[in-house]
Amino acid sequence: MQRAVEETYQQVLRRDPDQPEFHQALLEVLRSLDLLVEREPDYAAVLSRIVEPERVIMFRVPWQDRDDNIRVNRGFRTQFNSAIGPYKGGLRFHPSVNLSVIKFLAFEQILKNSLTGLPIGGGKGGSDFDPKGKTDSEVMRFCQSFMTELAHHIGPNTDIPAGDIGVGAREIGYLFGQFKRLRKAYEAGVLTGKGLSYGGSLIRPEATGYGCAYFAEEMLKSRGDSLDGKKVLVSGSGNVAQFCIEKVNALGGRCITMSDSSGYVLDEDGIDTEKCEFLMALKNERRGRVSEYADKFKGAKFVPNAKPWGIAADFAFPCATQNEVDAEDAASLVKNGCRGVCEGANMPSTPEAVEVYNEHRLMFGPGKAANAGGGATSALEMSQNSQRMMWSREDVDARLRKIMTNIHEAAVQAAERVGMPDNLLHGANIAGFTKVADAMMSHGIV
Ligand code: NDP
Repeated sequence: MQRAVEETYQQVLRRDPDQPEFHQALLEVLRSLDLLVEREPDYAAVLSRIVEPERVIMFRVPWQDRDDNIRVNRGFRTQFNSAIGPYKGGLRFHPSVNLSVIKFLAFEQILKNSLTGLPIGGGKGGSDFDPKGKTDSEVMRFCQSFMTELAHHIGPNTDIPAGDIGVGAREIGYLFGQFKRLRKAYEAGVLTGKGLSYGGSLIRPEATGYGCAYFAEEMLKSRGDSLDGKKVLVSGSGNVAQFCIEKVNALGGRCITMSDSSGYVLDEDGIDTEKCEFLMALKNERRGRVSEYADKFKGAKFVPNAKPWGIAADFAFPCATQNEVDAEDAASLVKNGCRGVCEGANMPSTPEAVEVYNEHRLMFGPGKAANAGGGATSALEMSQNSQRMMWSREDVDARLRKIMTNIHEAAVQAAERVGMPDNLLHGANIAGFTKVADAMMSHGIV
């Protein structure tokens, strides 16, 4: 590694030794930046600043459960980088959330948002609160308490949160309601992923999953191929997975798996439109488990406590969570004929899994490029809020598709810039970084 790159990494390890997820995300990016700095050494100047968040907010979130017990969770917001626009990134509610997870997600978000070509910086937040098994009233009370503190730090021109794991339409509604009450003003642009009746954008719920399928289609197109007729593995069964399945179907592919933290479902007949509707109602309304899908549809089977990566297929879309594909899983994918992996989740492949993909020349769409459609469409939601307009479904979808095409093109060009054509991971890291770094250099040492 170039000295400046190595020193930057060592400094982070010394300063925050207990943040393994952040270290993992950072090292992956620094390996790409090493190639850039070797050719264009001026970029070394911003490294020590870009790895340090502009601001980290941690706070107590007290709330009362259904039995009147006092519960206390921890809230986080990392405002990582605002060089090209206000901080922007989702909120995650999951028991595994800690500062390391939020910093990894916020760091990824800087480069991802930059890749969209839209003026949005990087941030992320959340809590170790677990919405699973909670009543709607408990979730509402938690969201109100969380927002009571978060409201001091966000705004349509400063920091705009959205959803992520455990934060969907229900949570965004409660969070927005409390923000509006505290502010005594209607600032629709403070959150994205809002419901359509109060400032949401058409296609925002679909955007990450649709965008991921569009990105895979671009990867395949560059090789004269398409998703049409492909057998596809999907993990997860939440927002990203649901709409990834829907769009892969629309593009002619056949998705045969989905999962949650209890196991995976295999449906060799394909998760068609009707079955996908069942899945959405199961997960978004009844808040059930994927095993119920296998109970409902003949021919589908539920495999508990396992991941779907050992099933023979052409393409894989990990859409659940970080580090869900390890080297062994990657080797199973290769062995069973998989030709490409496109990441709907953030950092779902371990570094060792990525090595296996590269060794076997799989097409690889890294999350920060392939799942950038959510952030991009959030920015389109903010534009509509500013204009007090609502664009049509077709309009937003066409813009999303164009953005995904542009991201693919930007990653290809940046990969060529450092002599690594075909390596979209290096390409995405470098294309995302250079725009932010150029802005930081223009702003002076701030
Ligand atoms: P949801 O909460 O809607 O769904 C998450 C899914 O992943 C559920 O099926 C959940 O299962 C599963 N899951 C979560 N944690 C684990 C775990 N530790 N082990 C196994 N399965 C797990 O979240 P999203 O679909 O919104 O997010 C999925 C991924 O996509 C995340 O990595 C997120 O950061 C990323 N992403 C999301 C965007 C968005 O717009 N929503 C934008 C860009 C990226 P269970 O219900 O059992 O927990």
